[in-house]
Amino acid sequence: MIPGPFSYHRPATVADAVKLLTTLGDDARPLAGGHSLVPMMKLRLATPEHLIDLHGIDGLKGIRRDGDNIVIGAMTTQHDLLASDEIAKSLPILHETALLIADPQVRYRGTVGGNVANGDPGNDMPALMMTLGASYRLEGPSGGRDIAASEFYQGAYFTALEPGELLTAISIPAPAAGHGYAYEKLKRKVGDYATAAAAVVLTMAGGKVTSCSIGLTNLSETPLLATDAAKAVIGTSLDPATLKKAADAATAIMSPAADARGPVEYRKHVGGIMVTRALTRAAAKAN
Ligand SMILES: Cc1cc2nc3c(=O)[nH]c(=O)nc-3n(C[C@H](O)[C@H](O)[C@H](O)COP(=O)(O)OP(=O)(O)OC[C@H]3O[C@@H](n4cnc5c(N)ncnc54)[C@H](O)[C@@H]3O)c2cc1C
Repeated sequence: MIPGPFSYHRPATVADAVKLLTTLGDDARPLAGGHSLVPMMKLRLATPEHLIDLHGIDGLKGIRRDGDNIVIGAMTTQHDLLASDEIAKSLPILHETALLIADPQVRYRGTVGGNVANGDPGNDMPALMMTLGASYRLEGPSGGRDIAASEFYQGAYFTALEPGELLTAISIPAPAAGHGYAYEKLKRKVGDYATAAAAVVLTMAGGKVTSCSIGLTNLSETPLLATDAAKAVIGTSLDPATLKKAADAATAIMSPAADARGPVEYRKHVGGIMVTRALTRAAAKAN
């Protein structure tokens, strides 16, 4: 399959990219790693007339500590996450999740910014960013703004990005030392998108859960925060009855599509299992 014709632009600054996106309007799309956009173009599901390649812009790549936050440039690749000591030390769940995305070839090109800006319910990073309380930095024709990841996703491929806006960085509050974490992902085969996945970040004291956040991937047309499920485990030792209660509360908010990954009831069922497994494994890691 061959994409339709398009013009290629390679701006050197964020301001130039925003100007191009603004003047070219709906016919233009940012190009990051191209591992979601180009397959869509080859299938003619996306037919942008202008591609604005972000690779020429200095400063959009990298991982840095800013006080209590870890700031990741939009053009940082999934492989960069895996190679980062800062991520391994402060945000090990990001390392664990990146390793479950596709295969090394995709991870060398695919960017974190592209993954979270794409709006595909099957992308793994969005639910994780919501679980971690991350925010996104957006630059547009009327200046910059920050938006919580939990407010960014509005529907499948529909986000809070306004015309002309570019996502430039992701800011994640460093979780407490000793936190437990797990990303559990059921997929049909290595390299596949999730049939169902759950992210858990929690803290424990004296054998009881003191804080918990749970995110769900590919179990609705947007990533979900399972807040009632997370509340159900606070103050407990994650005994079997509590785990079931949490899985039931999470399942109640799932509305996955019926597709090649299975019918709705099956995907909700395995979604509950992912929540149970992620909670159990996160608790075992907490200290
Ligand atoms: C075989 C295969 C398997 C895959 N499996 C998985 C998987 O299991 N889990 C998973 O999460 N992903 C998976 N992916 C997708 C992969 O992670 C993509 O790299 C990712 O979804 C998009 O990142 P990208 O940098 O390639 O973005 P692109 O494809 O370049 O862009 C994606 C979309 O986001 C927009 N965009 C990109 N960057 C920005 C920005 N900075 N600001 C605003 N808009 C922007 C683009 O215009 C486009 O609409 C897979 C891909 C392939 C080819």
